[in-house]
This record gives sequence, C-alpha cells and structure tokens, in this order.
Amino acid sequence: MSKSFTYDVAIVGGGPAGYSAALYAARASLRPVVIEQGMPGGQIATSDEIDNYPGIPNISGAEIGTKMQEHAEAAGSKTVYAMVTGIERTEDGTFKIKTGQDEIEVPALIAAMGATPRPGGFEGEDAFRGRGISYCATCDGMFYRNKHVFVIGGGNTACEEAIYLSRIAEKVTMVVRRDEFRAPRGMVQRVEKQDNIDVMFETSIVKVAGGPMPTEITFRNNATGDLTTETFEPGTFGIFVAVGYIPSVDLVRDLVETAPDGGIVTDELMATKTPGLYAAGDIRHTVLRQVITAAADGAIAATNAYHYLEESELLD
Ligand code: NAP
Repeated sequence: MSKSFTYDVAIVGGGPAGYSAALYAARASLRPVVIEQGMPGGQIATSDEIDNYPGIPNISGAEIGTKMQEHAEAAGSKTVYAMVTGIERTEDGTFKIKTGQDEIEVPALIAAMGATPRPGGFEGEDAFRGRGISYCATCDGMFYRNKHVFVIGGGNTACEEAIYLSRIAEKVTMVVRRDEFRAPRGMVQRVEKQDNIDVMFETSIVKVAGGPMPTEITFRNNATGDLTTETFEPGTFGIFVAVGYIPSVDLVRDLVETAPDGGIVTDELMATKTPGLYAAGDIRHTVLRQVITAAADGAIAATNAYHYLEESELLD
C-alpha cells in the first residue's frame, strides 16, 4: 500500500446502520470513523419508543442510539462531529470526504446517511413549515397540548405519530389518502384503541392557508374529487406530515445507482456500483426500513468492506 490513512473506513451517518457498521469494523480490527452532523441515533433519536428490537422490549430512540455509539466506541471506533459537504472518489480509488473542518481520506466508505421526511406536497406547506406544520411529533407535539392535530399518512410512522399525539392533543384526525391504511393490522388496532383518534379515509389535504398562523385547511375527497374548506381559530390546530421518507443520497449520487424509491441499489454484500463504497440502512433501496434491518445492513457492509480492503491490499 503506497498511501497511509488514519482510518481504514469512514462511515457517514451515526444512526443504527452507521454504528453497527462501526462496531463490526472495529471488531474486525479496522480503524473506523463515524462522521455525524447531529446527535447519534439518526432518525430514531426522535422516536420516544422503540418496541420491536429483539431482546429490548422498550427503549427510547435516543437511548438506543447512545448505547449503539458507546458500544462501537468501546470496540475502538471514533466519532467525528462534522457536516460532510462533499465526497469525491480519487483516481486511485480512495474517497476524500470534505467536512466544514477538514478533509478525511479513506480507502473504503459506508454511506449510512439515512433518509429525511417526504413533504406532503400540498399548497401552503412551505409557508407554514414550523408554524403549524411539522414532521416530528416527538419534537413538536408539546406545542399542541389540548389542540386538534391532523396527521397525514397511513403508514407505520403516521400511526405512531397519531398515537403519540393522542396523549397530548385533545383530538387527532388521521388523513389517509386511500380507503385503507398501509400500516399492518397490529398497528392499526393500536390506533383504533385510542378514543380521541378519528380517521378521514380517501382524503388528502390540498391546501393550507391563513397568516401568520394557518387558519384554513382544504380537503379533497379522493373518491369524488369534492373539495371542502374548514376554518379554524389561529393557533388551535396543527398538521403533522408522516408520508414516508426520501433517502439522503445527494453526497454520493454520482457514485451509485438509485432505484425508483430513491434508495441506493446494492448487492447482498451492501456493495454499490463503486468499488469500496457500501450503503447501509434507510439510504438503501430496501423493502423494510427498521432499526433491526439498518443494524443488519451495517454489519454486512462493514464485514464486506473488511474483505474488500484485505483483498485489495489496502490495510496497513
Ligand atoms: P410508508 O410505509 O411509505 O407509508 C407512507 C404513508 O403515507 C402511506 O399511507 C402513503 O399512502 C402515504 N402517502 C405517501 N405520500 C403521500 C402524500 N403525498 N399525501 C398523502 N399521503 C401520502 O412510510 P412510513 O410510515 O414513514 O414508514 C417507512 C418505513 O419505516 C416502512 O417500512 C415502515 O414499516 C417503517 N416503520 C416501522 C415502524 C415500526 O415498525 N414501529 C415505525 C415507523 C416506520 P399509500 O399507502 O397510498 O402509498
């Protein structure tokens, strides 16, 4: 090996995929670094309850995120807190990661940047973002104590948000665009148990208006196409958008292939089309986005990054 590196593998993103990759890389005697721009845990850091990670019946997202970081660091992984502004592949096949502070060059990279909430796509969404329109119940739910909240979406996230908000708000109305939920039956039953949650099926919010706070919502009945506008006193309601996620692929877009859902296409080794570049967790094109699947992806990516480095004689 001609070049000398401080780290063998960089992992961008400190969620379950990132710290699982870091743990497995460290245990394989690699020198991993996780580059994280916020608090460890990624998206789960804002989840108040994780109850489907085997062996851990109930834990908060922030706690499991911190535990994952501690576990990886106890095994020898490092964390650099910085925002990555660019990733470049050099002619000799290494990766230059630019951060606000400096540049880190590594022979292997694991992209574990996760995903960000998908916008609802209705008129007025951008104008009222943060002023009546939110994307995270755990973050903003407290502003709606004893008020009326609308949750857009019919998947697992929307149901979880609705259940969480039902303990704070006076009333929760789920706005589901089809005539059925996407969430599995068990989750729907949990929604149905809450007396203060009702559901508007086959309905979309097409417009939110008012000023400076929103005072009007226009609903479309998706069966008939009819539009109805409801008016509210300012500050009496909120809208939580929970319609899925968009994988955060921008930093590596030129180095990977993406699927129609926006996720990075990998093989079963988590390898992308670029040698030495792996993807793990919610950033990947996958059928299930869970803590357990992200953690599993991270383990597979790190193990195969190790084999790649060894076979390419890129280890010190
Ligand atoms: P999702 O499963 O993709 O569901 C998105 C929901 O939003 C669907 O009901 C979808 O309707 C609706 N939707 C999409 N675009 C919309 C729009 N523009 N306007 C109105 N509605 C729209 O997303 P998710 O609930 O965020 O879950 C993402 C992944 O994480 C899934 O794999 C999920 O199982 C997993 N997850 C699991 C848990 C858990 O197990 N505890 C918790 C959270 C998330 P259609 O059905 O008509 O497409």
